[in-house]
Amino acid sequence: MQAVQQDDSSRPRPVSRGCEAGTVFLLVFLVGLSLSAAAAYALEQNRRAQMQDQFQRLAGERVSRIANQFKTSQQQVESLSRHLSLAGDQGPGAFALATEHLLADSLGFIWMPRVTHEQRPAFEARLREQGGANGLREVDERGALRPAGVRDEYFPVRYVGSRHLGERLPGLDLASHPGRREILQRAREREGLVSTVLTLSPVTPYGQALVVMAPVLRAGELLGFVSSALLLDEVLAEHGSTEGLYTELWDLSDAEQPRLLHSAGEPAESSALEYHRMLPMADRLFAVSLRPQFAFMHQHGGSVGVWVFLLGGLVSLLAAGFLGSLLSERQRTRRLVAVRTAELQASQRELQTSQEELRLSERRWHFALEGAGDGVWDWECQTGRAYFSPTWKHMLGYADGEIEGTYQEWLELIHPLDRHQALRALERHMSGATESVAYEYRLYCKDGSWKWILSRGQVVLRDAQDQPLRMIGVHTDIDGRKHTELQLNRTLGELDALLRATTHVLIIATDLQGLIQRFNVGAERMLGYRAEQMIGQPIERLCRAEDLDDHAAPSGSRRSLQELTADCRTSQEWTYLRSDGGHLVVDLITTSIRDEYDQAVGYLGIATDATERRRSRAALEERDHLLQKLTQRVPGIIFQLHRAPNGHFSVPYASAALSGLYELDPTDVRSDAQRMFRLVHPEDYPRLRDGLQDSAQHLTLWQTELRCLLPSQGQRWFRCEAMPERGADGGVLWHGFLSDITPLKDTEQELRQLSETDGLTGVFNRRYFQERLAQAISLAGRREAGLSLLMFDIDHFKQINDQFGHAAGDRVLQACCQRLGARLRRSDLLCRLGGEEFAVLCAQTSLSQAATLAEALRALLAGESIEEVGRVTASFGVAQWHTGETADDLLNRADAALYAAKRAGRDQVRLAT
Ligand code: GH3
Ligand code: MG
Ligand code: MG
Repeated sequence: MQAVQQDDSSRPRPVSRGCEAGTVFLLVFLVGLSLSAAAAYALEQNRRAQMQDQFQRLAGERVSRIANQFKTSQQQVESLSRHLSLAGDQGPGAFALATEHLLADSLGFIWMPRVTHEQRPAFEARLREQGGANGLREVDERGALRPAGVRDEYFPVRYVGSRHLGERLPGLDLASHPGRREILQRAREREGLVSTVLTLSPVTPYGQALVVMAPVLRAGELLGFVSSALLLDEVLAEHGSTEGLYTELWDLSDAEQPRLLHSAGEPAESSALEYHRMLPMADRLFAVSLRPQFAFMHQHGGSVGVWVFLLGGLVSLLAAGFLGSLLSERQRTRRLVAVRTAELQASQRELQTSQEELRLSERRWHFALEGAGDGVWDWECQTGRAYFSPTWKHMLGYADGEIEGTYQEWLELIHPLDRHQALRALERHMSGATESVAYEYRLYCKDGSWKWILSRGQVVLRDAQDQPLRMIGVHTDIDGRKHTELQLNRTLGELDALLRATTHVLIIATDLQGLIQRFNVGAERMLGYRAEQMIGQPIERLCRAEDLDDHAAPSGSRRSLQELTADCRTSQEWTYLRSDGGHLVVDLITTSIRDEYDQAVGYLGIATDATERRRSRAALEERDHLLQKLTQRVPGIIFQLHRAPNGHFSVPYASAALSGLYELDPTDVRSDAQRMFRLVHPEDYPRLRDGLQDSAQHLTLWQTELRCLLPSQGQRWFRCEAMPERGADGGVLWHGFLSDITPLKDTEQELRQLSETDGLTGVFNRRYFQERLAQAISLAGRREAGLSLLMFDIDHFKQINDQFGHAAGDRVLQACCQRLGARLRRSDLLCRLGGEEFAVLCAQTSLSQAATLAEALRALLAGESIEEVGRVTASFGVAQWHTGETADDLLNRADAALYAAKRAGRDQVRLAT
């Protein structure tokens, strides 16, 4: 009901629409009329302005012409006056010549000489001679000519330069006429140009003329007057074609009473156009006034504005009428449209309601699908337009606006390998072969990857020819599942391949009941059965009864193999029964097979033939045993020393002897060799370091002997020999042997000592002394340091031997060495040269220092008696080495000094020379 009421209210109202049409008609007509009036007014204004301009131009031109004539006339009279003043009266011929070229602009020129009463007869005689007038004449009151009366002076016309002025002028005395006399008088008084307007009749056939007159003076004397006349009718007349101007000439000389002198034409009454201009002429002021004549108005007038206005009005009327009819037609149409619209609105509302319901239902299932994480697609099959829901796009990583929605776009996203299969499924469904369509395929994601999608859909609308119009469907992301599936397939494939390839490994899988499910090639080969024979058989067929009994449960019941292996994931030795009745001992790993819920679904046994392994193990053990024996028995330590690329040392292997010989456990140095290095004698450590470096660099045998300071054994000597090899990591690995050579070193030390010292006294022997003397001489030569030698010989030793026995003599020798040796510096070298003769080698010692030492030694020996023997003395010889001197020379010189001391009485010191 409400809808119906609304319809009524929206229906058009005919009356108001009729008013509207009338208003529009009136409005359009009035607007048209106004525009026409405005256009007419503008045109009229323009016409007036043009007319005014034209009038001003023509009037200006006319007045300029008049002014020009005025000016020319003045100039001509002035020039003629000057000519007569200078040249004088030279006869009628000369005058005619002078004025001939001026006559174009002027009516004529007159020369009026001054003739006194006395000169009158002569003048009249000349007039008659030249065939002019009979004598001087004047005009009477009736305008007729008569002989001039008697006056003091006359100004008769002598020559007339004109084609038109009649023969009557010569001899006419202008001064006789009161009007002319006045102008003569003005010219005389001004002594310059004067002008006036005169009526030339009745003496001439012409009417009014503008007369310009000038006196002719010579040295202040008036010779006469010259004048020219311009006919006003000619001056004010139209020029050329008809201009249509009415002209007036005014005399303004009397400002209070302007006088109209002349007018030409008939003024048009309707016009307000006027043109005035002052024109000074000699001593008078004239004015020209112009107004348009009817002809002018007619020529420039017109009623264009009126015509425009009338035409505009007519057009407006027509336009308004046309618009009015259009409007009323439109109103009729609108009424019709309104009725149809109302009907349409009603049906549209119904449509909207059903669409709304459809949308709601669409939104519901759309929401349900989207909410479930599925993307929705909606395809208009004929147009190719498609809708892809946000989830559809997000599933592939695209934002809402990045995919517009066309069939083509979808097509381009499909993986080339999947396209054919997907399109075939679609086509089959669209052709009606299937109820719905579902296919799995890969779509291209924004990040460049491919995603597995399950697409399911159905045609929801078909046309009359059963062609699909619309199809709707969903996309489900099955990427994870698909990958798992593919992974699983691959794994199964790999497993299959593995099972086929492992010909040396036995693999048997059973179900929970122990029935064999898989029996691989390895099992076939190793046990001699075919897989087909064994699939479905109980596993116990392959086991020995005693093995099953051996693993009986504590309760005594025999445990099944499954029980035995259910949770056993470790390796054990097992015996299988071969098809030929033989036994196969294997290393068996058993494990349960579990499903995704960690429930056991079967068992798997993987076995390798243990025979070979057993053999190798025995061989290995034997080798280990041998190696162990070797390392234990070898008098030394077998080791591996590793230097990492960063310089870190470690001892990956050291035989057990390390703890006994080196007092370190092999584990102490396995990761760090520093504990071993720290025990090396500080003096020997640089040699160790440099040796290792050199060996690592050149990969040559490292061989050295070192002292080590062990915690309990003290200093021990070790010999080390190791061969390096370059490791894959860039490090170096030495394989070597470390042996304790302390006893060897001790023996060597003893032998060396024996070879260098004197057996009786313990001081150095003569051989060692000579070595050291040679060294000292070469060193002193290089350094230029002092080197001195002391020699001493026990006095009367033979007597001691004789008196106390040889043994006592030996003790004296020992006591002497001990006593004197204690007094010497570390750098001094005491040697027994032989018998009871000794030498002291003093490096970096001058002769005087050596002498002091010798004296001290002498005093020490002599100062204290030796037990059993008493006081023993010795004689000393001292020599300093000279540059370039040989050892023998030095010895000889010291020896000579010693014997000098002997000779001098013994128990004294003598210096060599
Ligand atoms: P002089 O003051 O001139 O040196 O008199 P002397 O007796 O010391 O001179 P001489 O060189 O003749 O004597 C040296 C003796 O030293 C001769 C030798 O028997 C003895 N003699 C040499 N070697 C040893 C020795 O090793 N032990 C002992 N007891 N006597 C030795
Ligand atoms: Mg002696
Ligand atoms: Mg001697």
